[in-house]
Amino acid sequence: MEHNTVQWDIENRQLLSEVCRNCPDPHFERRSKELPHIGCCAYEPVFTLFEIYKMIVAEKTEFFLEVLYHNPRNTIHEYEIVAGAFIHPLFYQRDPTSSESPAERYDKLCQSSHTVYKAVDERLAYAVCQFFIDGKGCGLNASFKTSICRSFICGAVEEKLSGEEREWLAKRQRSIRDEAEPFHRKYKAIFHERGWTLMNNVKEIIIYFRQLSRERAE
Ligand code: SF4
Ligand code: SF4
Repeated sequence: MEHNTVQWDIENRQLLSEVCRNCPDPHFERRSKELPHIGCCAYEPVFTLFEIYKMIVAEKTEFFLEVLYHNPRNTIHEYEIVAGAFIHPLFYQRDPTSSESPAERYDKLCQSSHTVYKAVDERLAYAVCQFFIDGKGCGLNASFKTSICRSFICGAVEEKLSGEEREWLAKRQRSIRDEAEPFHRKYKAIFHERGWTLMNNVKEIIIYFRQLSRERAE
């Protein structure tokens, strides 16, 4: 089933919506008119072993190393990479009506586990995903987008769908997750057993994934 509000891009296995051009979701409303209105791309995508494998299969290892792995904006975890967002300068400025800047508010909110979720929202309200291109949208090769980026459809879009359309959407979202998550879990366990992490063994992981891709192609 296909409908107008949400489309399924079969080639890149991603959900898209025309509604995003004028994002109506109040959760992603910007704090100032000076900030670009970018909807849920005020975000820091988390690249798992699944997306890293796809980059290596596509012979884009150099892209992986330059844009993700060696990018000082990004945070390398054991088996994931968080692509840090650009933070707008307004985040660090006090406006005339406020006694603190959003950054100062963020620091305060981070101090308690009860408010840390608010801190995340405070920061993301001034964030722009590093792959977002003004006037164009996502600038990342669609096949390298994370499963969250390929499957996220907010409540404001969902409420425009009929019951049948929501079922269709949930099925597509599950199929995206069911491809990416088991892959990540499987190779995370294998690398963990070998004592490998992205921080310390990126060369070994690249060689392993190249070999895996050759075996899968045979
Ligand atoms: S999915 Fe929802 S929140 Fe994200 S850009 Fe589209 S309309 Fe806005
Ligand atoms: S990677 Fe693309 S879709 Fe995902 S948050 Fe960034 S710009 Fe948006």
